[in-house]
Amino acid sequence: MASASHRRSLSKRRAVVVSAAVLAAATGAGVLVTNAGATTADLYHQTLPAKDGWAASGSGTTGGAKADSAHIFTVSTRAQLVRALGSVSDTTPRIIKVKGTIDANTDDSGKKLTCADYAAGTGYTLDAYLKAYDPATWGKKAPSGTQENARAAAQARQAKTIVFKVPANTTIVGVPGTNAGIKGGSLQVKGVDNVIVRNLTFSATEDCFPQWDPTDGSAGEWNSAYDSVTLRGATHVWADHNTFTDAPFFDSQEKTYFGRKYQVHDGALDITNGSDLVTVERNQFTHHDKTMLIGSSDTDSTGKLRVTIHHNVWKGIVQRAPLARLGQIHLYNNAYDTTTLNGYAPKYSIDSRAKAQVVAEHNAWTLPSGAKAAKLLSGDGTGAVAGTGNLVNGTRTDLVAAYNAANSKKIKTTVNWTPTLTAGLQTSAKNLPAELATTTGAGVLS
Ligand code: CA
Ligand code: CA
Repeated sequence: MASASHRRSLSKRRAVVVSAAVLAAATGAGVLVTNAGATTADLYHQTLPAKDGWAASGSGTTGGAKADSAHIFTVSTRAQLVRALGSVSDTTPRIIKVKGTIDANTDDSGKKLTCADYAAGTGYTLDAYLKAYDPATWGKKAPSGTQENARAAAQARQAKTIVFKVPANTTIVGVPGTNAGIKGGSLQVKGVDNVIVRNLTFSATEDCFPQWDPTDGSAGEWNSAYDSVTLRGATHVWADHNTFTDAPFFDSQEKTYFGRKYQVHDGALDITNGSDLVTVERNQFTHHDKTMLIGSSDTDSTGKLRVTIHHNVWKGIVQRAPLARLGQIHLYNNAYDTTTLNGYAPKYSIDSRAKAQVVAEHNAWTLPSGAKAAKLLSGDGTGAVAGTGNLVNGTRTDLVAAYNAANSKKIKTTVNWTPTLTAGLQTSAKNLPAELATTTGAGVLS
């Protein structure tokens, strides 16, 4: 319904007047001339609009927009992507266009790599690992020794293949109409500034070698190592119009060992280790458990972890949408659907803990019949959630009041800041579920 006119206003908003100097430096493909004669950057060269969330702060987020023609790459294989990324110490602006779906679990010649390929020669087998660390015989201490060393060695081989290290001043963007994305990979933005990730589908990020941690929770857990996109000490990052999904292998299909789910997935988009100034916009998060961590521990960092999350769809998400710690986090105009999807049964949407200062306003929740608004939040009693205008099945609802009425560890209602970087904020969430269904995720931009 609102999609066509909305897309028009979006592109108008993104229109950039390009100076003669920049025009001269740009390649022919970098600039579009509209019927009216105005110049507009194409989706590869677009930069974060002014005031569009925390990533617009200070120097803003331009990614690889200033790339010269020698640093504009089109990649369709893992090896090509690795070459285009170059070294993380090389901060030359670059634009990497991803054409089609790159399978991260492939070797340099494009041959498919399996878990067995990574394990070969390490001595690791799941059977031997299970035998070595069965709590009935090994007890509740952390795994160590031959099989744990072998698991770590096999995991390191997979990591070397599927983790892609993104340098500063990079735009990595899907080519429209090609089902662009990365399957089975982990994009790592670590200790660098100014990165744009757009129009990509991140699917099937799986760890072949989950680690048993008998001390995680009361019954132990299997933990995996890879987020589809992981920000660690990263600044000025714009994640825009991407799709994140576990598909095609869902948690409900996972096996159980030691009475716990053999979890091969970690986060979808985790923002940790002092990352700061991030805008997460018009993405779709679906079919996932631990979706977005902001801050990896209660002592991650202070004065950082400032994140804006707006106009995203969260559907079939179990938890952490997001889990917020410490930072100043703005959530506006998101659409949540808490209907169970292919076994992904939502526990809560937003967790505010470790003194997180969350403003959540004008978001829309769709709840199945019988579900309670009191279960949309979570907290440890130190986090805050301010903001109004949130709708639950179309009705204005005070989420914090509903939560606090049912829980002893109360969520605080005042925060220590006022959001000002709020481009596109809509003061009614009423139409968001329908509108965002067609304006978010990979494949929408052209
Ligand atoms: Ca865990
Ligand atoms: Ca993670």
